[in-house]
Amino acid sequence: MTTLTDIPRQATRGTAFLIEDSRPQDIFTPEDLSEEHLAVGHMVDEFWANEVEPNLPAIREKKPGVAMSVLRKSVELGLTAMAIPEEYGGMAMDLPSLMVTAERMGRDGSYGGWHSAHTGIGTLPVVYFGNEQQKRKYLPKLAKLEMLAAYALTEPLAGSDALAARTRADLSPDGKHYILNGQKMWITNGGAADLFTVFAKVGGEKFTAFLVERNFPGVSSGAEEHKMGITGSSTTAVYLDNVPVPVENVLGEIGRGHVIAFNILNLGRLKLGPAGVGAAKNVLAICLKYAKQRKAFGSTISEFGAIQHKLAEMAIRIFAAESMTWRVVGLIENQMHGASGVRADASANASAAGSAQELKAIEEFAAECSMVKVYASEMLDYVVDEGVQIHGGYGYHQDYTVERAYRDSRINRLFEGTSEINRLVITGMPLKRAARGLLPLFEAASAVLQEPERQPKEAVGDAELSLVRSAKKIALLTLAVAHQKFGAQLEQQQEIIMNLSDIIMEVFAMESALLRSRKLAAAAGGANAADACAVYSRDAIGRVELSSRTVLSACAQGDELRQNLSRVRGYASHDPVNAIELRRRIARRLLASERYTA
Ligand SMILES: Cc1cc2nc3c(=O)[nH]c(=O)nc-3n(C[C@H](O)[C@H](O)[C@H](O)COP(=O)(O)OP(=O)(O)OC[C@H]3O[C@@H](n4cnc5c(N)ncnc54)[C@H](O)[C@@H]3O)c2cc1C
Repeated sequence: MTTLTDIPRQATRGTAFLIEDSRPQDIFTPEDLSEEHLAVGHMVDEFWANEVEPNLPAIREKKPGVAMSVLRKSVELGLTAMAIPEEYGGMAMDLPSLMVTAERMGRDGSYGGWHSAHTGIGTLPVVYFGNEQQKRKYLPKLAKLEMLAAYALTEPLAGSDALAARTRADLSPDGKHYILNGQKMWITNGGAADLFTVFAKVGGEKFTAFLVERNFPGVSSGAEEHKMGITGSSTTAVYLDNVPVPVENVLGEIGRGHVIAFNILNLGRLKLGPAGVGAAKNVLAICLKYAKQRKAFGSTISEFGAIQHKLAEMAIRIFAAESMTWRVVGLIENQMHGASGVRADASANASAAGSAQELKAIEEFAAECSMVKVYASEMLDYVVDEGVQIHGGYGYHQDYTVERAYRDSRINRLFEGTSEINRLVITGMPLKRAARGLLPLFEAASAVLQEPERQPKEAVGDAELSLVRSAKKIALLTLAVAHQKFGAQLEQQQEIIMNLSDIIMEVFAMESALLRSRKLAAAAGGANAADACAVYSRDAIGRVELSSRTVLSACAQGDELRQNLSRVRGYASHDPVNAIELRRRIARRLLASERYTA
């Protein structure tokens, strides 16, 4: 079993970063991964090189049985059992180990889809919500891949609006079964899965989760969908035609299916962080090599400033996404396993109390999981797009990895909740917490609003730290003004919500990048990190200012608007750096190492 690494013990709450300061030593970063975590990473790397990579062409072409045979080989290494408690045949690994694996699996969405859907959204509903009998029956089989798992929430007429599901479950006259009828859509692993977590409404009303085996009568899959990317993952409809599901297979409580659906999605969203970062690092490494060998106008294209800008910006955004991701992994892992930091033994870990604590931790940081998902998926789309550009016409050809990476990337902004739905969570969560008295958001915001319009800048001696603090003030001010204007109706002002989410996400990205770069500097490392942070925080404050101006201009007019805009301008003002030179420096280091380095 992997033991817990030295996770910083910051006692914080979800979204409290908006009103609290953190120190570099408070956050978890990839540099804190233990020897054991790194060993997990090496093991997955080797497996990837020996078993996955050679089979990828066949997997992408959907050659029958290939993906499953590779997945079966991964059983020997425990890769299908990592999240399952030991007493049910699993390895009870900690969250960082799962995320280290997810980063490696992110290299290719076709194979990654099989692994991730089985070990994540497929298996975790049983781990977290199964009763003892259900865990004993299914988890050992899922650990050994004697059953392949899938998660069936979406329907043709209920995607983002999952609770509008039409699949229904009616109790049989003898009370022994629920009879399921309906259709699920876009189900990953749908073509091969043996066990589905299916969401259906009992009596057409109470949204509930069920464990449905493929061999129950009336379960069938549609044909494989023809997708834009991740062509080798299995995606099908699943039909439920008078399927008798034993009452023992109700997962969790009747009418509480939404708790399962949303908590499992939170973890899925977090996992897209390392997966996106892994995919982006891979593309950047390919681009660095290509740029060094492709010649134009008598030199390699790596010598052109325009190309260096792209390479550096790719690395800067990867750095921000990576810093956010691991910070959230640390926050959740810390909360999951208590202030002691000692991971509970296997049996206790498997207990209902352990699961409840883990679920609470995931729920607590739901907004942070959404931020990681949105940021990493949009970062990856930027990276693959510039990757194609660096390859010129060759980037448009199927023989080149970037062409596939470009298509594969696009799904990440759609599944596990679209970017829009996640942005609703990012702004909605702190507002809800504030309304419930769990987060003194409006108290902090009113302190900002009471600051004189021309507040002299705090002399903190660290320009980027000052920018982070200013960004927080802009976030609080903008949230408060929007809330004052629209009150409970704010959620209907979606353009405002989207802008507020962008501000909140940028604050988290800026702070995570800053804290990590300072932590690296304290350990005499992170040359790229320091330059990346200097560039990123200045670009980000510009984006924060723009989003804030958009919101403020929709909330007030005249003197009030002028005053608010003037405050924001004051907070956002900063001394510039020579971003062109800093990006060139980052690019030179990247080109020398031919891979992403922090
Ligand atoms: C390859 C692939 C694999 C998938 N795997 C699975 C799986 O394993 N299990 C599973 O259950 N599902 C899966 N899905 C489904 C996926 O989660 C949904 O496609 C996604 O949630 C969006 O739902 P939808 O496609 O119905 O889009 P819609 O909900 O129709 O959304 C259309 C557009 O409207 C926007 N929109 C919708 N509601 C709002 C709102 N309230 N405010 C603002 N904008 C809004 C959306 O953001 C989007 O831009 C998969 C999908 C794909 C393509």
